[in-house]
Amino acid sequence: MSRYFSRNYASLVPYTPGEQPQNRQYIKLNTNESPFPPSENAIRAAAEELDKLMLYSDPECKLLRQAYAELIGVKPENLVAVNGSDEVLNFAFMAFCDATHPAIFPDITYGFYPVYAEANHIPYEEIPLDENYRIRLADYCGANKTIFIANPNAPTGIALTHAECEEIIRTNPDSIVVIDEAYVDFGGESCVDLIGKYDNLFITQTFSKSRSMAGARLGFGIACEALINDINTLRYSTNPYNVNRMTMAAGIGAIRDEAAIRANCAAVAETREWTKAELERLGFACTESRANFLFACHPQLDGKRLYEQLKERGVLIRHFDKERIRNYNRITIGSKEQMQILIDKIGELL
Ligand SMILES: *Cc1c(COP(=O)(O)O)cnc(C)c1O
Repeated sequence: MSRYFSRNYASLVPYTPGEQPQNRQYIKLNTNESPFPPSENAIRAAAEELDKLMLYSDPECKLLRQAYAELIGVKPENLVAVNGSDEVLNFAFMAFCDATHPAIFPDITYGFYPVYAEANHIPYEEIPLDENYRIRLADYCGANKTIFIANPNAPTGIALTHAECEEIIRTNPDSIVVIDEAYVDFGGESCVDLIGKYDNLFITQTFSKSRSMAGARLGFGIACEALINDINTLRYSTNPYNVNRMTMAAGIGAIRDEAAIRANCAAVAETREWTKAELERLGFACTESRANFLFACHPQLDGKRLYEQLKERGVLIRHFDKERIRNYNRITIGSKEQMQILIDKIGELL
């Protein structure tokens, strides 16, 4: 830390992104990226923007919001487009939390939530998942605090049902419930249909995982118009051009390729179930994941050691050095071929 760094952030511990090694070709099963390329439409549309880069992008993201609103069955007024859903999650902490509305979220969830709370000086509480890494509904119903739930959760992959989410939303009429649907397309139940019904519901979605666009940085906040306006107050106070021209065009292109994207998600879900069965055959225990990753541990293998041994053999998975989950690893679902290699290498280790 330099002597000039603001005292406001002196104790801030930043989020640690998954490794993106540039030195050697790994089989990358560590950051939940898609094994499929982006849609042809997305690639072509982004390329066509290159000669317009002297012009700013549309701060309203009008065409993109229209296209996505139509796809998911909401109005464009219910959407804000963002530079990856991480950006709108940070805005949600800024917009909907303060001393009277502290944030709550599970102790085992997306590692960015506590970082956003710390960075914005927001009080927060981490609510322990039960012994099976499940959310206890009673901890959130009527909590009257700003709730952040990833559904399906990460890194466990476990999902709440639509009815369970609605129960949390319904019993917290005076506080915001943020549902992070980063992984919903791989087998979760979306709450988007509840947007017209509850003014305290705020959903985030991303094109990073199911739409193979992690490098483009595109996400959405989805909520009633009043909440979207709150987010826009913050967005226009920081960076109104947060979604660049190439990404905006690529996003519209990807929306036009919905059938191909659905097929990709189905393939990932199928490979996930195949991989889970193979891991269980090798003695692993896996949570019931509805996401594009598995969360697995083995009674005879130390979690960190497994991560290190696979890395030496050219396969990257994600280990979290965190008390309750130290023996687990999060394994992204890649192509069937990549998962076969993973299974073979683990078989050798055993
Ligand atoms: C990947 C992820 C996100 C955000 O990803 P972006 O690339 O910023 O859209 C949000 N929440 C969870 C739980 C994630 O795993």
